[in-house]
Amino acid sequence: MTSQAALHLFPSYVRAPIQFELGHGCTLVTPDGDVYLDFGSGVAVNALGHSHPRLVQALQRQAEKLWHVSNLYTIPAQDLLADQLCELSFADRVFFCNSGTEAIELSIKAARRYHHCSGAPRRNRIITLEGAFHGRTLGSLAATGQEKYLEGFEPRVDGFDQVPFGDLLAIEEAITDLTAGILVEPIQGESGIRPLPPGYLHALRSLCDFHGILLLLDEVQTGIGRTGSVFAYAAEDVTPDILAAAKGLGGGFPIGACLATGAVGSVMQPGTHGSTFGGNPLAMAVATEVLDIISAPAFLERVRDASLRLMLRVDELISKYPTVFSEVRGAGLLVGLQCVPPVRDVLAMLHDHKLLCVPAGNNVLRLLPPLTVTDAEIDEAVLRLDRVAERLSDAVAA
Ligand SMILES: *Cc1c(COP(=O)(O)O)cnc(C)c1O
Repeated sequence: MTSQAALHLFPSYVRAPIQFELGHGCTLVTPDGDVYLDFGSGVAVNALGHSHPRLVQALQRQAEKLWHVSNLYTIPAQDLLADQLCELSFADRVFFCNSGTEAIELSIKAARRYHHCSGAPRRNRIITLEGAFHGRTLGSLAATGQEKYLEGFEPRVDGFDQVPFGDLLAIEEAITDLTAGILVEPIQGESGIRPLPPGYLHALRSLCDFHGILLLLDEVQTGIGRTGSVFAYAAEDVTPDILAAAKGLGGGFPIGACLATGAVGSVMQPGTHGSTFGGNPLAMAVATEVLDIISAPAFLERVRDASLRLMLRVDELISKYPTVFSEVRGAGLLVGLQCVPPVRDVLAMLHDHKLLCVPAGNNVLRLLPPLTVTDAEIDEAVLRLDRVAERLSDAVAA
């Protein structure tokens, strides 16, 4: 396996010694010609797999016309994509940025600005949940609130109050006349695919309405078809005031978006926010195509069918190897498999079997195949998981 020592890169990542040269659909190919099954999708980014012909075509077509003009000028493709996103969601206004953390940063800014413009500038604090992950910029990091990410980066940005996961009473108690809103992931991703308890989002909506504060959703990982609907909140019949999207939206092209109601979006008047790259024509062209494909009812139905198959097969693995896997959680193709042995060991063995997955917190293995994954690919991935589980359970028994 070819791999060079990264002498001039910040050593901020722990990387597997695997590299890829080509991707096609659900597979990735190394320079040596080894073919891997990709059940990580670049951490829920390659929603349509690798080299989807329609995305390649959209990118190439746009690349021949225009790459970048900046937001000093009208970019019709932004209107188009914003129209599309609003059609598919609660939103009336959209701002385009380049990543999840930027979408969260703007969500926080918009919430503060909303209260500022409504004559309640003291309402500037956001309540978040333990186990959250909202990104790595200073604001998003403070919202994330996890010591392991914050250590050494003090002073921490002020304005966040964190409460235990899934505890409604704790939220009620945390709301004060300084609270601007509540920010949650419908399903926590990084902390191990932890869905909010049933009815919890509904209760948050009621609390927000009662107190005149905003509901902010981080759908950076759950959005764009990942859970079987365009956005995960749709399954709960609850609408937020602000929503952050990114990962799957560009299918591999960097883009983020902050979606908001008309009331919130309209407070972001000229000068309040900006992004040099945000809404770049290349990103718009690709994301429009991604949304077109993903929002088709038949596509989403297929995601739900694929999910049923994967969940069922994984449940069988849990029954067969209780000393290796203990629980499955998630929705759609955002699946978390609770491991008994260290997830690092499971991942390393899966690499040997040429199956790529993603670790999450609390010893969870994330299965995030492209939304285009076939039944045969699901069965093949489960077969490889089975082989690894068999070896691991033998090791436990020995
Ligand atoms: C990945 C992620 C982010 C951060 O997105 P970046 O594009 O890495 O900045 C924020 N929130 C959630 C829920 C995520 O999964």
